[in-house]
Amino acid sequence: MRQLGSYIYFLLFLPLSVSMADPIIDAKKLDFSLVLDIRYATKNNFTHTQVYPEARCCLRKPVAEALSRVQSSLKIRGLRLKIFDCYRPFSVQKKFWELVPDERYVADPKKGSRHNRGAAVDVTLIDSSGNEVEMPSQYDDFSEKAHRNYKLASKSAIANRTLLEKAMEREGFVGFETEWWHFDHKSWQGYAVEDLPFSAIP
Ligand SMILES: [Zn+2]
Repeated sequence: MRQLGSYIYFLLFLPLSVSMADPIIDAKKLDFSLVLDIRYATKNNFTHTQVYPEARCCLRKPVAEALSRVQSSLKIRGLRLKIFDCYRPFSVQKKFWELVPDERYVADPKKGSRHNRGAAVDVTLIDSSGNEVEMPSQYDDFSEKAHRNYKLASKSAIANRTLLEKAMEREGFVGFETEWWHFDHKSWQGYAVEDLPFSAIP
């Protein structure tokens, strides 16, 4: 009986250990058409400091593949994704928390952000000329305008928010309630929090 128990245990945890082995890769190398505007690699972010040494979008391989499929589905409509943030090293999360120790805006490092697992993205839509489409708020606007259920935005902003949501959901991403730009991949729990520096990701 004990042997059967350990066999079941093995079967239950096998998929988890396999997915944990998914490497963090450079998403742009997988899909060159992804447009990056990595705000934390500039001073144009809520911390007003450059916290990433490089502007890169790194993700777990299956998450990067899912994002690339979203990009392909949008191209048919003359739209593309613009990416603000992907994998975030854990040490940066701690820095954010020192600056803004408020869970409404920043994930507590005790729990870790899904960005630290390489399984979350911050994205918006751009048109064929590369201009951002209208959304209910700016990126990292920590007001209720950023909430997914905010209804007082213009009709086109709401339509664009919904279009992005649907395109992401079709490929397994789940939107975060209080930030229209943030999506977790449904596989996030299978990945550990990492503190790999960008320089260690090929
Ligand atoms: Zn985010």
